[in-house]
Amino acid sequence: MNFISTRGNAAGIGFVDTFLMGLAEDGGLMIPAELPVIDQDKMKQWERLSYQELTLEIFQLFTGDEIPREELKQLIDESYATFRSPVVTPLRKIRDDLHILELFHGPTFAFKDVALQFLGNLYSYVSQRQNKIINILGATSGDTGAAAIEGVRGKDGIRICILHPHEKVSKVQELQMTTVGNENVLNLAVKGNFDDCQRIIKELFADLEFKSRYHLRAINSINFVRILAQTVYYFYAYLQLVRQNPAAQISFSVPTGNFGNILSAFLAKRMGLPVHRLILATNENNILERFVREGVYMPDEFRSTHSPSMDIQVASNFERYLYYLVGEDSQQVSAMMKQFQEDGKVVLSAGLLAKVQSDFQAYGVKNDECLRMIESYSREADYLLDPHTACGVAAYESCGDKNTVTVVLATAHPAKFDESIRLVGIAQEFPADIQRLFDKPQHQQLVDNDKAEIAAQLERFFGTR
Ligand SMILES: *Cc1c(COP(=O)(O)O)cnc(C)c1O
Repeated sequence: MNFISTRGNAAGIGFVDTFLMGLAEDGGLMIPAELPVIDQDKMKQWERLSYQELTLEIFQLFTGDEIPREELKQLIDESYATFRSPVVTPLRKIRDDLHILELFHGPTFAFKDVALQFLGNLYSYVSQRQNKIINILGATSGDTGAAAIEGVRGKDGIRICILHPHEKVSKVQELQMTTVGNENVLNLAVKGNFDDCQRIIKELFADLEFKSRYHLRAINSINFVRILAQTVYYFYAYLQLVRQNPAAQISFSVPTGNFGNILSAFLAKRMGLPVHRLILATNENNILERFVREGVYMPDEFRSTHSPSMDIQVASNFERYLYYLVGEDSQQVSAMMKQFQEDGKVVLSAGLLAKVQSDFQAYGVKNDECLRMIESYSREADYLLDPHTACGVAAYESCGDKNTVTVVLATAHPAKFDESIRLVGIAQEFPADIQRLFDKPQHQQLVDNDKAEIAAQLERFFGTR
């Protein structure tokens, strides 16, 4: 399959090159030149496939003949063998109208593992095939870094350096990243906030000489392969539910930050999955809620919330949605992104706003409402929600359709965000794999919020061998 840039100046690029590329050179994001469409017969055949088999079918539509089917199958099987659930992403029924899709059974207890376990194996496969070293550099507010490190630790031909804001990630997130003892992992704890980390990474990537000298690769959700891996569980959950109840109308409510997860849902729908509604759940950083309600995309003041992985103002995948919104017109996307750069906002026409509102419903959850949701579901349904999932449930409660079936995506295990759970007065027992982290030695370098100091650390780490 061929991939193109949302801004139109990159075309005819294959799956593997798209995977390695990250951002397109024209500043746009890579997307398939044409999305495959799955007809109802095929969907029917997919009903009895395992999670891994379904992943293979979906990926083959995009990899074409670039990766032999047997090798792709092996990559997929290896990636999901690390999950604690045999079905990878189990569905839990709360009520007839509400199911929870648990995406947190991977090694780091958040949904990022679903994509990043696969990406780690794919990096390693490509590194061997091309006989090239792959150096990954990224910044994290917690979950991505842990999942990315877990995806590549100990793998030949790959090194990874992750910047996180010192003492501004949850304790469990910090331990997940820093108790990894492999030599191919470097954790830099930056005396600053997440935006500082992100800015330094951006500057280092913009330094083309530095970037090419160390063959730097990005790990954030602008990578199309991450988006693709996440489409699988929408198909999987849908197919399980219609097998039980063929007449069900099925919606999804998605806790949203960088717009990656919900973009996967949107693409699944465009590929033919008969999704009833998509609910976009945000926290008090509600730029996307305002976009859906008012048609204005404009960052606001940053707020710290109980769901830090959704504390994002500018959603990096948003441009991909814009592309489909304007009818796959890359010139219009370029013009809108230029407007955003110059005026700090994008304003939609009434016609486009109506289209957005037929694609999504949106709801921004307040901090106290998030905690109330955790408390009431623990008491009434005996189910402990993590604060991100609680936003998804609150959004469903606020704007969902109670006569249909809604699946809320559980994006993290509550143990990862115990600081918030304790605010509700709930004492939880940690899973053994998390409890164990507290006894392990930590490996991290504390660094100043200073690009030169960080570049020097990277030169030492990436420059060896
Ligand atoms: C990353 C993350 C999100 C946000 O997902 P996006 O794809 O960035 O929209 C939500 N919840 C948790 C727990 C996460 O780690």
